[in-house]
Formats: sequence, C-alpha cells, structure tokens
Amino acid sequence: MVMIYSHSRLSTFEQCPFKFKLRYIDKIKPEIETSIEAHLGSVVHNTLEWLYIEVQKGNLPSIDQIIKYYSENWEQIYKSGTIIVKKNMTIKDYFNKGVKFLIDYYMKYKPFNDGTIELEKRIILDLDGTGKYKLQGFIDRLVYNPETKEYEVHDYKTANTLPTEEKVATDRQLALYSIAIKNIFGEHYNVLLTWHYLAHNIKICSRRTTEQLEQLKKEIINLIDEIESTQKFPAQKSVLCGWCEFKSMCPHFGGVVRERQKGINDYPSLGKYVRD
Ligand code: SF4
Repeated sequence: MVMIYSHSRLSTFEQCPFKFKLRYIDKIKPEIETSIEAHLGSVVHNTLEWLYIEVQKGNLPSIDQIIKYYSENWEQIYKSGTIIVKKNMTIKDYFNKGVKFLIDYYMKYKPFNDGTIELEKRIILDLDGTGKYKLQGFIDRLVYNPETKEYEVHDYKTANTLPTEEKVATDRQLALYSIAIKNIFGEHYNVLLTWHYLAHNIKICSRRTTEQLEQLKKEIINLIDEIESTQKFPAQKSVLCGWCEFKSMCPHFGGVVRERQKGINDYPSLGKYVRD
C-alpha cells in the first residue's frame, strides 16, 4: 500500500524513527492524546477559520463573538490528560495566551478583506507523477492578491519562538504547498509564503524560486525512499521528548509498547477576557 505522506509525517521520521513507526506504521493509540500547546494551536486555528468563514458570509464578528467562539471550542475539544510540560504554566495561562493572540490579530487585520479565497484547503501532491511519492497537506488560508497577482499561502504559528532567517528560507512545509498551488493555478504564478507568528503579532514572508522547488522535490523523494527502505526505527532523543505522546512506551524512558490499540485607544482590554 502506498503511504500518503505529509510534512508532519516526514518531520516525525526525521525527529524520531521510533515515534514514526508507532504512530504511522503500527498505528498505536497513545495513552496521552495531545499537549497543551497542540490544543492551543488547534483552538486558535479553528477560531481564525471560523472568523474568515463569517467574513466570507458578509458578517464581521466582534471581539466578544470571537472570544466566545474560542472559549466554547476550547472546552469542546479539551481532553483530560493533555500534557503540560512547562511546570510554571497552567491551563489558564495557555487559554489566556490564545485570547491575546486573537485580540492582537483581530486589531491588526480587521476587516479581513485581503482576498482570502479558501480556508483549510486540502492539497495533494504527486511529486513525480507515478503516485509513489504522494503528499497531502492543509493550507490554513489561501489568498489571491489582485494587486500583486500572486497567490499567498498563510500559516498561523502559536509557538513563542521566532524562526531564524535560515529557517524561513529553507522551511519545507509552505514550500511544498507552493508547489501544489502552482500545479493547480499555473506555474507562471508567484506564490508568497506567509507565516503569522501570533505570539509576536508579526508576519514573516518568503518566496521560493523554481530551482529551489525542483531541488525540494528531489530531497523529499530521497527522504521518502529512505523511509520506505528503513528496517530499523531507533528512538532518537531530543528536546522534544517532553512533548512526545509515546514517552511512556519509549525505551529511553523505561517504557514498553503495550498491546496494540488501534496599541490604540479602542484596543480592547485583555482583562475583560482572561480567566483567573
Ligand atoms: S520520547 Fe523521544 S526518543 Fe522516545 S519515542 Fe518519543 S521522541 Fe522518540
């Protein structure tokens, strides 16, 4: 069976082959479903998606409506047992971070008429046309800018750290999406890659040349070949182990794999929304 890859599958293999095997080959259900950071990311993404859907319907939600949606979605999808790795942070701290992200974003970008054409757009890429190297992904928000005549791939980031220039110039995920957009709309279109770093309320943009995209395709094909031919899946420790949902099954941590289980005057006050 041909596995459909994604940026996160490839990254998981690079980070830790053992985790890749448990998650994608053995399909083991972890005891812990998610981290609080992942939960925050999901709820903020869902809220921004809802905001743009409302805007597309001709409604501009108020800040109160945005935060109400966020709060309800937070409760709806929160799972008990969510990992909180940072000992100095509480669930409320994470909830309040999301509130701040959304207020900042709202105040910076309202009324959100930047040419958004699709939300959570699913893309499938067949890297060499044979069907052997298939990747799928979801673009948070796709924009067509009539002034620049460019497509823009927008991605929301809820992490605290900003990427280095090198990381921006070599980031794989949005570059892959730009290959897909060119396949769909035409190779002659330029694609602007845009990351919204919500914790800093800034956006960072980058572009890729045709040569860079061709090189990226080759690299991904080589990586998929490596994954497909791998016989051993060693556990590879890193700083990310604290957030790993398979830590309790990891040999590095004494675990075993159990039985398989398939700034302006009208700027709203944060105090109105935070939980204490
Ligand atoms: S805890 Fe670390 S080494 Fe172990 S499976 Fe998870 S990522 Fe790999």
